[in-house]
Amino acid sequence: MRVQVLSSGSQGNCTLIRAGELSVLVDAGLTLGRLRPRLEEAGVGMRTIDHILVTHAHLDHARSVGALAKKQDATVHCPTSMMRNNSVLRAPRLDTVAVDGRGEFEQASGESLHYVSAGLPHDCDPTVAFALDHEGRRFVILTDMGRPEQRVSDRLQGAHVLMLEFNYDDEMLANGPYPDALKRRIRSNHGHLSNAQSQVMLEQLAGPNLHTLILAHLSEKNNTPQVAAEAARHTLSEMGLDHVRVLIADQHQVLEPIDV
Ligand SMILES: [Zn+2]
Ligand SMILES: [Zn+2]
Repeated sequence: MRVQVLSSGSQGNCTLIRAGELSVLVDAGLTLGRLRPRLEEAGVGMRTIDHILVTHAHLDHARSVGALAKKQDATVHCPTSMMRNNSVLRAPRLDTVAVDGRGEFEQASGESLHYVSAGLPHDCDPTVAFALDHEGRRFVILTDMGRPEQRVSDRLQGAHVLMLEFNYDDEMLANGPYPDALKRRIRSNHGHLSNAQSQVMLEQLAGPNLHTLILAHLSEKNNTPQVAAEAARHTLSEMGLDHVRVLIADQHQVLEPIDV
């Protein structure tokens, strides 16, 4: 299984997963015009995406899901409550993602890609994180979470590659340019994970399988790649996991492909 982050952050999120014959996207939150060159850069042609999994209805995750699914003739998998949203309406096929559920994509070869979903506390209900499993390898993608929860970590154990939100640094948010109401929303139990909260999730999720950690959904105003990476490396080091590679998913550039 191979993973490539095409975009990550509050302007749009999209991650490509290739497993055997299947190509799957998690979220399509950029406009089609901005997504197209990134798909091209990743070598994705017309009608090569088979499935699009959607984490939640916020536009930075769902904006182009339906339109892209139509172009790619892909099946969209999203929570039932999203199925009437404009962002997914044009999809040729819709399938339900249960909040704490499982699913499977079969391939002609007989092998399959499985997923496990876990409901997250976030101000868009429901929001889910996914673990994707293929041939004994696991990729976990978890962003847009308001507070750490052991229940979520328990469902998503064992990642070889973990993509985890490191949204904001507490001090930078406190002293930053955002209006107070927005600061309160981000900090709330249904907002986003601070670096310190992400460290708690990392401690719960990192295990002996983990070889690559991708820091995701970084705020461009209230965080820096350096500060977030330092926090992540500190936690990994305390866990004896200094060998784990730390990468930063970017809003503006396609990240290198990662073999899970
Ligand atoms: Zn988001
Ligand atoms: Zn969100």
